[in-house]
Amino acid sequence: MSDFNALISTKTIDILPISEQALKQINSQIANQLNTGVLVLDANFNVIIWNRFLQIHTDKVVKNTLGKSIFSVFPELPERWLTRKLSTVLQLNTPSFCSWEQRHHLFELPHTRPITTDSDFMAQNCTFLPVETDCHGKHICILIEDVTDVCHYQTQLKNTLIELEKISRIDGLTQIYNRRHWQESLEQEYSKSRRHDKKLSLIMLDLDYFKLLNDNYGHQCGDMVLIEVSTLISSLLRVEDIFGRYGGEEFAIILPETELSGAIDLAQRICNIIATTELIYNEQAINVTVSLGVAQLSTEESNYEELITQSDNALYQAKALGRNQVCSTA
Ligand code: GH3
Ligand code: MG
Ligand code: MG
Repeated sequence: MSDFNALISTKTIDILPISEQALKQINSQIANQLNTGVLVLDANFNVIIWNRFLQIHTDKVVKNTLGKSIFSVFPELPERWLTRKLSTVLQLNTPSFCSWEQRHHLFELPHTRPITTDSDFMAQNCTFLPVETDCHGKHICILIEDVTDVCHYQTQLKNTLIELEKISRIDGLTQIYNRRHWQESLEQEYSKSRRHDKKLSLIMLDLDYFKLLNDNYGHQCGDMVLIEVSTLISSLLRVEDIFGRYGGEEFAIILPETELSGAIDLAQRICNIIATTELIYNEQAINVTVSLGVAQLSTEESNYEELITQSDNALYQAKALGRNQVCSTA
């Protein structure tokens, strides 16, 4: 691309004296063999040269393009934006660039890749070069580089990273937050509550006799129960509540700006909905219950782990008192 630019500018490269005709032929043959679109405009933005790359990639007839305004040849161009860009190149006599990341494409040229992309059109990097001639004044050369592959693979990479980031936060079975993300969230919520002197409550819950359920109905049934229980609990939460799978059949909910009585109330509703909902596995009705421990952040805890210990102790108490119930630190 830059070699071509250097070649067409006889002022800036070392060149043996050859005839104008020979130079013209060399330039035109190079331009036609480039795998880059070359479009030269006069100062009024009329097309005066376009190379074979553009002929191949458009269905336009040459006689309908040469001498015509670029905006009538390519009506899809963003006229205001491009006029400003081209005028600046002419006025400042400096090159300009537009990458596919700024605008996926300027020219609606079909791409010829066998890969599936999001766009019907070729992704392009466009370079705008000022070109001055002695007898015909100022021109602009537009180089159009096909970067469909780059765009496609970069977009795929970006989507994969987004997906990976999501996977790293989500529990594969239940699709709620995993323990790592949940714990990081608790650390943040703990700091926020301390800083702004806001309330914060925690619910830890554990399925009752889950081992027995696995033994009686099989591990797959156990998995289904974990999914269903997560869905039931999620249906009772606010968007700001942070629900995670803490361990095998143990779940935890962070309740920002919630005092103990509100947290106990929610825990009781969770306890009731699970105990009264019949789950169906292989046409068999299955009943499960949960035990829940609730704690509210007080002045005594000096770190978030202590809040976990408080609700874990309450959960232990709920188990000891016979399960299927809510206990709190109060
Ligand atoms: P308790 O009422 O005291 O909580 O008794 P429990 O049987 O629920 O508790 P225990 O800790 O003895 O057993 C928990 C069981 O949960 C054992 C383990 O195999 C099962 N479990 C853990 N993770 C999964 C999972 O992802 N899927 C299934 N199906 N079972 C799991
Ligand atoms: Mg259990
Ligand atoms: Mg357990």
